[in-house]
Amino acid sequence: MKIPFVDLYAQYLSIRPELDAAIAAVIKESGFVRSRFVDEFEQQWARTLGVKHCVSCANGTDALYILMRGLGLKPGDEVITTAHSWIATSETITQAGGKVVFCDTEDDTFTIDPAAVAAKITPRTVGIIPVHLCGQPADMDPLMALAQKHNLWVIEDCAQAHLATYKGRLVGTLGHAATFSFYPGKNLGAMGDAGCLVTNDTRLAEWSTLFARHGGKGDHVMEGINSRLDGLHAAVLSAKLPHLAGWTQRRQELAATYTMKLAGAGDVRCPVIRADRTHVFHLYMIRTKQRDALRAHLQARGIATVLNYPRALPLYPAYGYLKHQPADFPRAATHQGEILSLPLYPEMTGEALDYVVASIREFYAR
Ligand SMILES: *Cc1c(COP(=O)(O)O)cnc(C)c1O
Repeated sequence: MKIPFVDLYAQYLSIRPELDAAIAAVIKESGFVRSRFVDEFEQQWARTLGVKHCVSCANGTDALYILMRGLGLKPGDEVITTAHSWIATSETITQAGGKVVFCDTEDDTFTIDPAAVAAKITPRTVGIIPVHLCGQPADMDPLMALAQKHNLWVIEDCAQAHLATYKGRLVGTLGHAATFSFYPGKNLGAMGDAGCLVTNDTRLAEWSTLFARHGGKGDHVMEGINSRLDGLHAAVLSAKLPHLAGWTQRRQELAATYTMKLAGAGDVRCPVIRADRTHVFHLYMIRTKQRDALRAHLQARGIATVLNYPRALPLYPAYGYLKHQPADFPRAATHQGEILSLPLYPEMTGEALDYVVASIREFYAR
């Protein structure tokens, strides 16, 4: 048996007529750039979340950059973010002119530890970027309380967490603004790079719209960048959106089955779901002290796994200038050697999941 990490072709086949029709409509209208397809998806995503504004852009990384420029980041401004994420979260802080300040994570959720954030706030801190890693919201209430106390903004990085909730509220509505990625493998994915930012702040949304489109078409009130959602991607996203809730539920069912069937397998620690949150399982990330050997065993059985991510962000060469040691981030630094993301995607069959579980059990029974 061969089990891929995700199967985008299976997803395409599952709704092929809808996707083919969406793509054909864009071609027929030549609606490749700034067309009704883009406006329609922006409205649909804003309505889905219950936010005032959705500003689409070329990818989730640009969304972070655009927002930080819109929030007026100045040289020397410090932005606090998590030691455990994809580098998009931190590299955009630097690109927007700020200084990255990394924080350790919580041991069970892999999300930013609010107590660690509190300890890193200085008079130069201007904002916090929590990441809802794997699809589970970070602990937002204490973060928002810190933000209010110190007059900071909070951008939620929701790239992995479409439709996840915290205390009954959707991620993307909890901070001052939020970013989403629609990279093909994300829970809602286009057929290439795509992303957006959402906010209830009308000034920030209007500024971001201008900035992402060369500072305004035919009326350049400022210099901007070219970061657009293509019409084809917008139409694909609109066609997929009605299926997102069902796909999310299927991810949650598969995750629950993994957790049930992996009980007692070696030293495997399955993902913890906090009682006040829902987890949308972009990633089903287990922990084991025998990670590398287990990974090699699964690979030999035809099972693809991924390390999300191989190192804590502050320990990559890109951040060598910060001169951090693993001891500065004891939890994130420990997790990097133990985490392993197992295959999980809505089209995964129960049979495939059982094969992954049996292969893991076989490893520990040796
Ligand atoms: C995917 C991802 C991004 C970046 O999104 P792109 O669309 O690939 O630019 C940012 N943050 C996190 C946590 C991600 O997983």
